[in-house]
Amino acid sequence: MSGREPSDGPGAEELLALAADAGIHRLAIPTPFQVGRVNAYLIEDSPLTLIDSGPNSGKALDELEQALAARSHTIEDIELLVVTHQHIDHFGLASILARRSGAEVAALEELAPYLRDFGVSTELDDRFAERTMLRHGIPSDIVTALRAVSASFRAWGSAVQVTRPLADGAELTLRDRTLRVLHRPGHSPSDTVFLDESRSILLAADHLIAHISSNPLLARPLDADGDYTGPRPQALLTYMASLEKTRAMDLSLVLPGHGEPIADHAALIDRRLRHHHHRAEKIHGLIAVQPRTAHEIALELWGNVAVTQAYLTLSEVLGHVDLLLEDGRVLEQETDGVVRFAAG
Ligand SMILES: [Zn+2]
Repeated sequence: MSGREPSDGPGAEELLALAADAGIHRLAIPTPFQVGRVNAYLIEDSPLTLIDSGPNSGKALDELEQALAARSHTIEDIELLVVTHQHIDHFGLASILARRSGAEVAALEELAPYLRDFGVSTELDDRFAERTMLRHGIPSDIVTALRAVSASFRAWGSAVQVTRPLADGAELTLRDRTLRVLHRPGHSPSDTVFLDESRSILLAADHLIAHISSNPLLARPLDADGDYTGPRPQALLTYMASLEKTRAMDLSLVLPGHGEPIADHAALIDRRLRHHHHRAEKIHGLIAVQPRTAHEIALELWGNVAVTQAYLTLSEVLGHVDLLLEDGRVLEQETDGVVRFAAG
């Protein structure tokens, strides 16, 4: 869930101009999703590099071609394609771009099998989501409806072969810069950020966004082959640990996967961390009144949005409940396969 916030500090134009001086150009690509446009970044270096591609749609491809043409490039010119994480608004076009350009495709090594077997990966993701939703009190008719929605979204993704798997901490060397590869899971298990070391510019994708709080979506772990039935992954705790790492970095500029550049990442991260603690308190208040399922808590907080966006809101609640569980303030009680949370 997200709250719009005013931006402060240097204006977006100014920050984009700074990035452009460093040879990094934002290409805002349309998506059919509520999030709006996704930012791909063209790095005019050798190899000519594109960070993320946009979703697999004719409209995205068309606008990407136009944006490249405005900088005197074609799709065929792209030599290196970098995938930041497993969400289809970011990598859906990658296979088409790779085929047309012959570009290398680089991504975190743990993400490579997921992208290669995209169809199977999303099927397993859906099954994981389905079990999680039923376990946390979402009625089965809603679960069925959401599965259909998810299946219809799949066409905006596409399987892609990673030719250059990247280890966490590795370097991606271009002629004029070195990009440090840093795994920052939380928003998704595969979130990878890329640090232009000499310029202290961070290409952050959805790890940090100025105008919306990134949703730490509950996701099947990347190393689970087949159905995952282990303990619930703690997406928000993982995300907050990743944010702390980024906060400690000395950065001049953060270029996010959606919206405007970020000048003061530490202040933004502090706001995000405060927001998560605040929301955890609110949820604790609801649980203190009576034991509730995560879905019941989501209904209290968001009403009908907890139905139309049942998985998103469930992820949001469970993330914050994990904060409370960690502090021993909440207990998990299971009856007939359904979990309720009670005050500890
Ligand atoms: Zn994402």
